[in-house]
Amino acid sequence: MFEQFDLDEALLGGIQALGYKKPTSIQELVLPEAMAGKDVLASAPTGTGKTAAFLLPAAQHLLDYPRTKPGYPRVLVLTPTRELAMQISDLNSDLTKHTQIKTGVITGGVNYGSHKDILTSTTDMLIATPGRLLEYIENEQFDAREIEILILDEADRMLDMGFAETINRIVGEARWRKQTLLFSATLEGSAVLKFSKDILNEPVFLES
Ligand code: AMP
Repeated sequence: MFEQFDLDEALLGGIQALGYKKPTSIQELVLPEAMAGKDVLASAPTGTGKTAAFLLPAAQHLLDYPRTKPGYPRVLVLTPTRELAMQISDLNSDLTKHTQIKTGVITGGVNYGSHKDILTSTTDMLIATPGRLLEYIENEQFDAREIEILILDEADRMLDMGFAETINRIVGEARWRKQTLLFSATLEGSAVLKFSKDILNEPVFLES
């Protein structure tokens, strides 16, 4: 039952509308730890329900600590591809539809500059691919210092795609964050464990 977690009624409404009856095993594992504010290193392939496992605690954080002034996004999700970014954004919009939380997407494949509204208006949760986001940071059109929760989705794939340096730069910019959640399809024999050492702070290790 999703009611076992300390989730806002509005989020439970979003979950119900999606037709989710009970949490998946990775959701059972991640939600309590992430909602307690801990850094998480999770091994969870696509299809396990990993996306809601990281979106729900982040959305709950925003509801628990409402924004006090207009500004930049407070939650950042980095994901390898434009398609994944759109999927995550769609799910987030569904989960948060009974809240005031606003979701924005920044990816390559569209004109540079077409994201200006997302960066200037009050977007709460930003879903982005690393390369394009770093461009905005370097051009001083985005300030990652207001990020409170950083989520790395499909970290193994992002590393395979050669994004390690780009991600490290973004992570450095998001240095005031309170929490980092890292999801990877697999951790075994992968470069992800080594990569995560400098990014995560005493993480709990969770495997679906
Ligand atoms: P993901 O692993 O995040 O890509 O999710 C795989 C699919 O499972 C998506 O279609 C989700 O909407 C769906 N899903 C996620 N959590 C649940 C749940 N608790 N119950 C049923 N379906 C779910």
